[in-house]
Amino acid sequence: TSLATELQSRMRDVPDFPRPGIVFKDITPVLADPVLFQRLIHAMAEPFREQRITKVIGVEARGFILGAPVALALNAGFVPARKPGKLPHRTVAERYSLEYGSDGLEMHHDAVLSGERAIIVDDVLATGGTAEATAKLLAQVGGELVGFSFLIALGFLDGVKRLGAQRVHSLITL
Ligand code: IMP
Repeated sequence: TSLATELQSRMRDVPDFPRPGIVFKDITPVLADPVLFQRLIHAMAEPFREQRITKVIGVEARGFILGAPVALALNAGFVPARKPGKLPHRTVAERYSLEYGSDGLEMHHDAVLSGERAIIVDDVLATGGTAEATAKLLAQVGGELVGFSFLIALGFLDGVKRLGAQRVHSLITL
């Protein structure tokens, strides 16, 4: 069976989490399987192997779990993009709107140097708001955005179009 099929069969759909009406994709069964987890990380890194990536930015919180091993697979450093107030040093910040209200992300101002080649990693791409805000953090410090790597792209929400289809990689589109 293909990796995509295997991943899909091992993810759980949890209805009405974290709020009524949302069907949450639970990826923890995939992470708990040592063989599948390793295949997943390899596949998320693969499109960027020859791209001279020096930084992988992972988005809090599941982007940390996937981004750190992807960084190791690419011989790159890992940079966390975090919710406001979590990072201890001087940060750059972006706010973005959600379906209900708004949220923010921060990154250390010196975590990526001007001209460094970086990718952004997260588990799920939905509207693209989170990933777009992360791309803006990278732009603020002068990093070069090579692409995005997601486990799942929820296709019907047009997040892929928003980020630019040619630089978005995802293992599964739903
Ligand atoms: P977006 O900003 O609308 O693209 O939403 C993406 C963010 O929401 C990511 O950080 C995801 O981790 C999270 N997210 C959205 N939907 C789901 C889901 O069904 N399962 C897990 N995370 C989700």
